[in-house]
Amino acid sequence: MPNRAFSLTNGGKNMNMPKRSRLSQSIQAVAILPVLLFSLVIAVFASKLFEKEMNLEVEEELSALCTSLEEMYDIKYPGDYRLDTENGTRIFKGDTEITGDFSLVNLMADAAMCDATFFYDDTRIHTTFTDKSGQLIVGTGAAKEILDKVYTSGESVFYRDIYLNGNSYFVYYSPLKNSDGEIVGMMSVAKSKERINEITNKTVIPLVVACFLLAVMIAFMIHLYFRSILKVLETIRQFVVNISSGNLNLELDGSVTKRSDELGDIGRSIVNMQSSLRDIFEKDPLTKLDNRRSCYRKINNIIGKAKVSDIPYSIAIGDIDFFKKVNDTYGHACGDEVLKAVAKKLQSHMKKIGCVARWGGEEFLLAFDHFCAEEAKDSLEEFLNVIRKTVVKFDDLEIKVTMTFGITEGDSDDIVTLVREADEKLYQGKENGRNQVVL
Ligand code: GH3
Ligand code: MG
Ligand code: MG
Repeated sequence: MPNRAFSLTNGGKNMNMPKRSRLSQSIQAVAILPVLLFSLVIAVFASKLFEKEMNLEVEEELSALCTSLEEMYDIKYPGDYRLDTENGTRIFKGDTEITGDFSLVNLMADAAMCDATFFYDDTRIHTTFTDKSGQLIVGTGAAKEILDKVYTSGESVFYRDIYLNGNSYFVYYSPLKNSDGEIVGMMSVAKSKERINEITNKTVIPLVVACFLLAVMIAFMIHLYFRSILKVLETIRQFVVNISSGNLNLELDGSVTKRSDELGDIGRSIVNMQSSLRDIFEKDPLTKLDNRRSCYRKINNIIGKAKVSDIPYSIAIGDIDFFKKVNDTYGHACGDEVLKAVAKKLQSHMKKIGCVARWGGEEFLLAFDHFCAEEAKDSLEEFLNVIRKTVVKFDDLEIKVTMTFGITEGDSDDIVTLVREADEKLYQGKENGRNQVVL
């Protein structure tokens, strides 16, 4: 039975317990979720960065293609662009009419897998773009916003989202200038966004997937690591719960005590605490022998075994003779030393044959496991010879004592009765002159 004060302070029933929360949940919140979120952010950031880089690259590529197209026109048809409206609408470059010559835009489109257009003023003269029915969309104009930008600024412009015939395009527009610097038209080169997105996706999707898988792996490893830590904490918690409910004899699992980290330290400290508590609750502080409570428990065990197996056992009570005289003559401190010395001898004598407890004052209770009363008597006679020869040294003093023992055979399963019988024999021994074993 656990000590009353001990169980009250440790049972926890009267304590204000904080609301129950789980470490595993907080670990998920502080370790696993951030890893997943971080990987998500990295994935989004990486794909945006890649997309931006891709746009820049496309812009550079289209700008270079535009310049090449312009050069191709200049090489094939040297001279300025000019419009002749006398006989219909005819476009000239230098002396050559180029109105119906699609060869250069077609060449560019085939070579660079793009679409190319030559605008004169705001009108498409040569183009590789077709409408839904497959007709080249020559004669149509560019959007006003584009024309305004190119014609007003005289600079090239790049659009990431021009919608044409149901498709989205990256388009680069570059102004065409005659030798006097006048802007007379535009060259434009376009690439389908679908194609570019395909390339982007081919790179970005595996990147995102790899990022996510890595995050899941890291999260899983964190989970496994913390699960093992939580398992150890749970073992420690269970152990502490057992101690707080008065169970001081359980062993803490080796998986905790053998750890070389802080958790192992905590485990070992609790085991030390358990051992100290056990000493406080089960041992006599002076002699370090079992106290009555733990001795009762051990005797009950012996009785329980004897009941089912017919194994004999015996109970004895021993008392130091004339102990008061020791105190009176040499002092209480010296009496304590004598008590400790006798206890030590008793402990070692009973080690393999039973148990011994300090019953009170200078009296000791002994239980012989497997010994009938006769055997217990022989054993105690032997012990008495040891005690008679024992000299206890205290300062310059040498003290010798004798003892008297009363024994009873374990023929009852009531400890109180057995102790009373043994006590009666002890009393007889005292009456008969002490320094003897009475059966
Ligand atoms: P008897 O042979 O009849 O047993 O005589 P006794 O003097 O041993 O018995 P008595 O009961 O008269 O005295 C026991 C003494 O033991 C009295 C008490 O002061 C002393 N005593 C009890 N506990 C302790 C202790 O823890 N330390 C010391 N030094 N003395 C103790
Ligand atoms: Mg005595
Ligand atoms: Mg006594």
